[in-house]
Order: sequence, then C-alpha cells, then structure tokens
Amino acid sequence: MPIKTWELDPNFKYEIMNEPGGEHLTACYQCSTCTLGCPITEIIPSYNPRKIIQMSLLGMRKEVLSNADLWICALCQTCTARCPQDVMICELMGAIRRIAEEEEAAGNIKIESARPLFEKAFLHTLQKYGRLYDMGLALEYYPNREGSKIKGMKAMMKDYKDFGMRMFKKGKMGPLGGGGVFKGMRPEKIKEREVLKKIFEKVEEKEK
Ligand code: SF4
Repeated sequence: MPIKTWELDPNFKYEIMNEPGGEHLTACYQCSTCTLGCPITEIIPSYNPRKIIQMSLLGMRKEVLSNADLWICALCQTCTARCPQDVMICELMGAIRRIAEEEEAAGNIKIESARPLFEKAFLHTLQKYGRLYDMGLALEYYPNREGSKIKGMKAMMKDYKDFGMRMFKKGKMGPLGGGGVFKGMRPEKIKEREVLKKIFEKVEEKEK
C-alpha cells in the first residue's frame, strides 16, 4: 500500500526517543541483521522488526502504534545482541508499546493484540499471589480478552481442552484450595508474598 506522505508525523521519532529505551532509534541503518536472526520469524515469517523501525523513522505513527506486530516480539534479546548499531531493539519495542498503550487509553487507536491484556493479567497475578498462578491468570485474562465473561469462559474451556488439561495432569494448574497433585500450587502456600507486593508498590510509586 502506498505511503500517504501528507499523513507522516516527523516528530514521531523524537517522541519514541524521549521514552526510556527508545533513545537509539535513529542509529538504525536498516541492515536487517535483527530480522534475519529473529527466532519469531521461523514461526511468523512476515514478522519484521527492521520494518517497524523504518516505519517509525518515516513518521508512520498511526500505522506503527496500531500494528499488531509490535506485540509479537518475545523480548528474547537476540536482535539486541546482534545489532551492529546498538539500537537496543527490545527496549525500543517496549518504548513504542508504551506510547501505543497511552494512545489506546486516550481513545485514539485500537491495539489489535491480546498481548497487553495478557501482560497486565500476568503482572497482576504476580502482585496478588507472589508468583505465577496459572489458574488465577487464566480467570483474569480470558473474560477480558473476549469482551464478555461468557465468551471468555467459552474460549478458556476450548483452550483448556488441549494445553489446560495437560497442565492439570502435570499438577501445573489447580483450583484454589486444591489438594493431591495440586499440593504446593495453592497461592496460600506461597511464602514471602509480601516481598513482591512491596516491589510492585515501589514501581507504582516511581511511575506516579
Ligand atoms: Fe537497524 Fe540494528 Fe536491525 Fe540493523 S540490526 S536493521 S541497525 S536495528
């Protein structure tokens, strides 16, 4: 699709560079080393971090911020280790994601990915239980992901028929207060939950 040059935002690159992690954006000289070595491209061949960087440099603000590819990166750091220009691509993706989340909260864009929801549910689970508690994570993530509680629970049951059951059988997932194979998985058994709660409180304080 042709680029609408009149819609480009020349300040977008500065907006990204002002975010922690986005400082090295303009050092990119488009060599593609990041994309060629990215393990995600083996599963999703169309994924291209170099392209997201080029679009950002051009000022394609809306296209970048609403791009679902922004949320594919698993932050494995392979690209960051290999980039000859020290662009710090994983951190850069984080910077762009934060701008996208702010724009969505302001009602300006719609993020076409469930990843932000998952990350929020993941962090909330850690905060609440002191460590990852899969059942708690699923109960928070699915209803929100599907837009309604009923649809969310349906999606959850569908997924659980496959990987959920495998996790149950291996004792990786259990209901609150579960015993037997779930022994040790109960949130109330987690020690030092308060320590993690304090870390979250400090981060929240810093973000204010
Ligand atoms: Fe740009 Fe670095 Fe990726 Fe090369 S490896 S395209 S310089 S970010």
